[in-house]
Amino acid sequence: MSESADRPTPPEGLPPRVTEALSDCSPGELRKAIVHAQELLHYHGEAELPVEAEDHEDILRVTEHEGYTEVVKEFRCADGCDECPHGPYLYHVTEEPQPDGSHKVHWSFMGTVQKGE
Ligand SMILES: [Zn+2]
Repeated sequence: MSESADRPTPPEGLPPRVTEALSDCSPGELRKAIVHAQELLHYHGEAELPVEAEDHEDILRVTEHEGYTEVVKEFRCADGCDECPHGPYLYHVTEEPQPDGSHKVHWSFMGTVQKGE
């Protein structure tokens, strides 16, 4: 592994032994490390993504994939209309580490899901 100027700064609070171990990993190994870290989070009872339903939406399905979480949800208008509920819509949710060590959750709209699918 060659050092480069683009090398990301590890999040504050991440132990150096973890940083060093990860910096030696190939991309394939890193993906496995992410999957394993997610499994450990589940083991500790912490969901890694805020996929809690809000008042105006119903989460129909959450599927974990390597590198992203697939979420299908429906929306309801505040007042309610003839079309309600809207969707279901498919999203791919990814977590992007920020320089300050926090994580930004990114929802990518993938399209409408056929009902009954
Ligand atoms: Zn509506």
